[in-house]
Amino acid sequence: MTPAVGEASDERDFGALAVLRDQPAASAVLTDFDGTLAPIVADPAHAQPLPGADMVLVRLAHRFRTVAVVSGRPAAFLLDRVGVAARHAPANLRLVGLYGLQWVEGGAVRQDPAVDPWLPAVAAAADAADAAAPPGVGVERKGVSLTLHWRTRPDAAGWAADFGRRWAAERGLHLQPGRMSLELRPPLPADKGAVVERLGAGAAAACFLGDDAGDLPAFAALDRLAAAGCRAVKVAVATEESPPELAAAADVVLADPAQALAALAWLADS
Ligand SMILES: [Mg+2]
Repeated sequence: MTPAVGEASDERDFGALAVLRDQPAASAVLTDFDGTLAPIVADPAHAQPLPGADMVLVRLAHRFRTVAVVSGRPAAFLLDRVGVAARHAPANLRLVGLYGLQWVEGGAVRQDPAVDPWLPAVAAAADAADAAAPPGVGVERKGVSLTLHWRTRPDAAGWAADFGRRWAAERGLHLQPGRMSLELRPPLPADKGAVVERLGAGAAAACFLGDDAGDLPAFAALDRLAAAGCRAVKVAVATEESPPELAAAADVVLADPAQALAALAWLADS
């Protein structure tokens, strides 16, 4: 019988993830948000985690050394979407946004001060995008960064790519491709890999679940942790939009956020 979303089931086989169940109090469970805990939707502002995902995170946090949602979204967005978890979980449940440039601490959003000099360039790019974007292209202002979305205007992909390249070249912003989106952000050494390496340091085992190009650095970080003796498990939530190298690099390949949540629930209740 297929388990309900968020329900544990020992009937499921999540393969290599089983090593996370050996020493949970010494292990780290790290996951992306969009496309992993939350189904991709046409308007990213409307993305919501699957029902029950927040409480699965709480259960994980009671069992594992470290649990984290590591996302390109602003930390305030993550706090809003998994706020129940944030309020009920122990402090070892971390919400890390903007690839590590923002995080939630004591219920408040904190931000790396290194972003400050870049904020005018990001704001100027957002203004320019608002003025020039074809109708239907989403301009998501994240404060510290800017994301252009063309899911509802696939024909605008070329415009967005040109816009991103130009602003990256002229203002020195970093260009991060995503699923029918691209992001311009400060060229700081922040990516999911740095976050995963820090949160997974010293763990007996660690996993990261992700679906997109921005998750490849997290996989590379797990490889570095594995070289240091950690039992690291890379989990791809792979759809036809995911970069093929993600599934190719993964130890476990899941089909969609429902499977990802089932795997996390299986770990939480192990
Ligand atoms: Mg994602």
